[in-house]
Amino acid sequence: MPVKSRRDFIKISGVGSIFFMGLPKIFSGKNPADASGPIVISTWSHGIPANTAAWEILSKGGRALDAVEAGVRIPEADPKITSVGYGGLPDRDGKVTLDACIMDENSGCGSVAFLEHIMHPISVARLVMEKTPHVMIVGEGALKFALDNGFKKENLLTAESEAAWKEWLKTAQYKPVVNWENHDTIGMIAIDQQGNLSGACTTSGMAYKLHGRVGDSPIIGAGLFVDNEIGAATSTGVGEEVIRICGSHLVVELMRQGKSPEDACRIAVERIVKNQPKKSKEIQVGFLALNKHGEFGSYCLQKGFNYAVRSALHKDVLMDAKSYY
Ligand code: ASP
Repeated sequence: MPVKSRRDFIKISGVGSIFFMGLPKIFSGKNPADASGPIVISTWSHGIPANTAAWEILSKGGRALDAVEAGVRIPEADPKITSVGYGGLPDRDGKVTLDACIMDENSGCGSVAFLEHIMHPISVARLVMEKTPHVMIVGEGALKFALDNGFKKENLLTAESEAAWKEWLKTAQYKPVVNWENHDTIGMIAIDQQGNLSGACTTSGMAYKLHGRVGDSPIIGAGLFVDNEIGAATSTGVGEEVIRICGSHLVVELMRQGKSPEDACRIAVERIVKNQPKKSKEIQVGFLALNKHGEFGSYCLQKGFNYAVRSALHKDVLMDAKSYY
């Protein structure tokens, strides 16, 4: 599978919370901008180059919204990343269909789902947020909206992804693989120098899904949620399970009740286990959260989910999430 080796990056195991225990003064305080400065975190190892693009903006005092959009555009345009944008593995019919959403510090949100032929669905989602009275547009309508607004129609199916699909067709078994081998959304959340939060989430969804299937990633409250008073959360993994518990919204609400980012993610994961004790052993779901104080944490079902962190203190750090199993 042409996914970048996770070993290419600095790796620190299970340190999200340890970091905070060791350095509480750095990560807590009334004003996050004073306490820790900007920070961006994102799912999986493709978060490292994405964070670099976001950090370019954050480190110069730019807005978190601009940072998360610029950040996730990196994997969207990378043909080697087979789970986001260009080069994404197609659905069962050989079509690459994309889901994305974005949310800003004012609870503004925009989303596109089941969108074909557009390299940067996140930028279309931003346009939905900023230029329409709507939150979400899908399919043909979303494509028309994108083309009407100057986006280019492109073929997103690379020769490699087409070959992988043709190989899959030989048995055509639909069995979600536990970790990144066939799902690997990028969810990115950030705080800027002003202390404002934003988030973005973009994916080509589960490989070989039914044509028309939409996962959690473009659903505000499931794949992404931002509340500028409290924090932000995003998710990756089997989207159906995240939608069932309104996962990212749940994580933010748990932080509102005083839970740490990691505890909030853990409780959301435990809810999936409680709802689906048997199935939860065979699938992956991971949550990633950042609170208003710049504290972050993560939790997942199965070992293997990691996330990338960039701040003044963390340069291209890849952390392993704690797991339920
Ligand atoms: N959450 C995505 C979906 O269900 C998949 C992933 O994270 O890779 O579409």
